[in-house]
Amino acid sequence: MLDVLIAGAGPVGLWLAAELRLHGVEVTVVERRAAPDGRSRAVGMQAGTLDTFATRGLAERFVERGTPVPTGHFGAATTRLDFATVGAVHPFMLALGQSVTEQLLEEHAVGVGARVLREEEVVSLSQGPDAVEAVIRADGVHRTVRARWVVGCDGTQSAVRRAAGIEFPGQDTTLTGWLADVELDDPPTAPLAATGPAGSFLAAPIGDGVHRLAGLSTATMHRGAGEPLTLEEVREQTRALLGRDLGMRNPRWLSRYGNATRQAARYRAGRVLVAGDAAHMFFPAGGQGMNVGIQDATNLGWKLAATLQGWAPDGLLDSYDTERRPAARAVIDNTRAQLALFAAASPEQIALRDVWSASLAEPRTNRQWARRIAGFDDPLPAGTAPDAHPLAGTRLAGLVLDSPEAETETGTEAEAEAAAAAAAATAHPFMHRGRPLLLDLDGTRTPCPVPGLEQHTATVDTEASEPVWREVTAVLIRPDARIAWAGTDTDPRRRAAGCRAALRTLCR
Ligand SMILES: Cc1cc2nc3c(=O)[nH]c(=O)nc-3n(C[C@H](O)[C@H](O)[C@H](O)COP(=O)(O)OP(=O)(O)OC[C@H]3O[C@@H](n4cnc5c(N)ncnc54)[C@H](O)[C@@H]3O)c2cc1C
Repeated sequence: MLDVLIAGAGPVGLWLAAELRLHGVEVTVVERRAAPDGRSRAVGMQAGTLDTFATRGLAERFVERGTPVPTGHFGAATTRLDFATVGAVHPFMLALGQSVTEQLLEEHAVGVGARVLREEEVVSLSQGPDAVEAVIRADGVHRTVRARWVVGCDGTQSAVRRAAGIEFPGQDTTLTGWLADVELDDPPTAPLAATGPAGSFLAAPIGDGVHRLAGLSTATMHRGAGEPLTLEEVREQTRALLGRDLGMRNPRWLSRYGNATRQAARYRAGRVLVAGDAAHMFFPAGGQGMNVGIQDATNLGWKLAATLQGWAPDGLLDSYDTERRPAARAVIDNTRAQLALFAAASPEQIALRDVWSASLAEPRTNRQWARRIAGFDDPLPAGTAPDAHPLAGTRLAGLVLDSPEAETETGTEAEAEAAAAAAAATAHPFMHRGRPLLLDLDGTRTPCPVPGLEQHTATVDTEASEPVWREVTAVLIRPDARIAWAGTDTDPRRRAAGCRAALRTLCR
C-alpha cells in the first residue's frame, strides 16, 4: 500500500511530493499528460514562494532562470507595489514561465525520491477506514491502487475532488481578459501599468526577450474565454489602451482568460485532501494562483507526514483546512477587487481607481498590499491568542541574523548548515530538513528539546532586522515558516514553559 498518492504533476503536486519526501514518506504522483505543460501561464513567482524554496535551499535554482521584477501592481494601479518593503530575502517577483518552474520542481521531486508516473489518470476513488482505493487508467487499462492518503492536485476540474464528494461552489466566467507573450521592438523601460476609459493594460518582461502583455478591454471583456485571440486584436487593444503598440511581433502564446471563481467547500474529506487549483480558482490578477497553491502544499506536507508517522497532535491535519481556506478566500476577495478596478468604465469607477492608486503612495498601505500579493500576509491561524507576541502566527520575515559564529547541535552537517546560515544571515539554512525550528536569539539555550526538533543559537542583527524582532529571545518556527511562538523572556525556565506549550500544537 502507498503512503500517499498525489493526482497531478503541476507545480502544487510536485512541490507537495517533495515536501513529503523530506520526511521519508513514500509518495507516487500520477499525471495525465505525457510531458509537462509547455505554456508559460504563471509567470509571476512571488517573494513568498521564493522564500519557501529558500527554506529548502532551492531558491537560487529558480532565481538563476528568471528575471527579478522589483515592483508589482494591484488592480493595474499606476502607483506600483514596492516589494523591497516586504522583509523578504528575495525582495522581488520573479518572472519565470510556469513550464520552467514545473521542470525544476519535477527534477527536485524526483531527485529526493518521489515517483512521477506520466500518462496515468485517476478516474475514481472509494474510501475505507484505513485506506483509499484509487482507480487509475493508463493506456486504456484500469488498475486499482491502495493508498493511506490521496491528495488531489489535479487542477480546477479535479476528478479527486469530485470523487470525494467535495463541493466546489462559486460563479462562472462573466468577464474575460486577454494576454499575449510577444517580442517587442519598442519595449517599455520598466514594468508598466496603464489605465483609462478603454480598460487596463500591463506589460512586464518574462525572460528570453519576451514580454507578457495583459489587458482587460472594456470593448472586448464580454467575449468568451474560448474565443480565438489574434495578434491583430492585441495590437488594436494595446493601441486603444496605451496609445502605441510597442512594436509587438512573434507571439509565443495568445489567450483569453476568465473570472470563474470557485472554492472547495472543504479541503479534506476523510483520507482525501485537495490543494492548489483543485481547491480554488479565481481571476489571475496579480499572479497569485500558483503561489497560493504552493503555500497549500507547504502547509500540508509536514502535517500529513506527521499524521502518517504518528507525531501529529490531535487536529493538526484539520488545521490545513482551517488555515488554508481563509488564505485562499482572502486572495479571491483581492482578485475580485482587482477585477473591479481593471474593468472600471463609468466616470465613478474610474475615479475610484484613481483614488485607490493615490492611496498606494502612502508607505504603510503600499507595504500592506505588497505583503499580501507577495504571500506574506495570510490571515492568522485560528486560535492565535490575542495576547500572543505580535509575531505569533505570522510568516517568518524581516529577521536578519548576525551570527558569524552561530552555535549548533553537534554534528558536521548541522555545523555546515550553521555556517551557511551565518553567510546568508537568514534562518533558512536551519530549515532544510523541514522540521520545527527553535531558534535561540540571545545566546541562552531554551531547555525544551524534543526529538526531531531543530535547535540553533544565533543573534539578531538589530540594525538590519525589523523592529519587532528586537526584544525576541527565542522563536519557534513551523516547517512552513509560520511562527508558532515568540518569547521575550530572558529567564530560560519561563521561556521553556512558553515554548513547550507551543510545541504541543506542532508535535507530540
Ligand atoms: C493566463 C494565466 C496566467 C496566470 N498567471 C499566474 C501567475 O503569474 N502567478 C500565479 O501564481 N498563478 C498564475 N496563474 C495560475 C496558475 O497557472 C495556476 O494556479 C497553477 O497552474 C495551479 O497549479 P496546480 O498544480 O494546482 O494545477 P495545474 O497546474 O492545473 O496542474 C494540475 C495537473 O493535474 C493533471 N491532471 C488533471 N486531472 C488529472 C487526473 N485525473 N489524474 C492525473 N492527473 C491529472 C493535469 O494534467 C495537470 O498537469 C495563471 C493562470 C493563467 C490561466
